[in-house]
Amino acid sequence: MLGYLQWQQKALEEITRAEIEAEAPKQKIGEEEQVIDVVTDLEVKKIYVLASKEIKNSNHILERFRAEDCDKKDHDATTCSCCISFRHAMMSREKSRPLISLFWVCLKDTLSPKDLTTLYNDEYNGLGIRKDWKVVIFKKKQEESRIIIGFMEI
Ligand SMILES: [Zn+2]
Repeated sequence: MLGYLQWQQKALEEITRAEIEAEAPKQKIGEEEQVIDVVTDLEVKKIYVLASKEIKNSNHILERFRAEDCDKKDHDATTCSCCISFRHAMMSREKSRPLISLFWVCLKDTLSPKDLTTLYNDEYNGLGIRKDWKVVIFKKKQEESRIIIGFMEI
């Protein structure tokens, strides 16, 4: 059962500087977004990059899985290559979730009491990661306030 923890530790160690460059956040800072911090720790960047890689991996597999159009009738799902791919994709997605949480916790853990107040005392405020590893606080649209909007924004 320690498999995941061992995988995570090894996968984080193996993230290269080139991968960090390639997978770095690309979204530009929005007009009304306020920059409150910058991610400088290599280990925190690696967590983001690994999560991003796992999400891409699962999306990639799921696209192929749909394309293969697996016939669910009359077949052994334990040995079907299509179904095996689907299970790999689901596991990749599961593996990314603790990494995503870990990334945001690392960020929030170092915020000032003032920024934490801004974040938690108004349900419409969210924390985001932008180009050049800038951490921003932004106003969510009213209808999005209770939804997690993907990996880049919470
Ligand atoms: Zn199948």
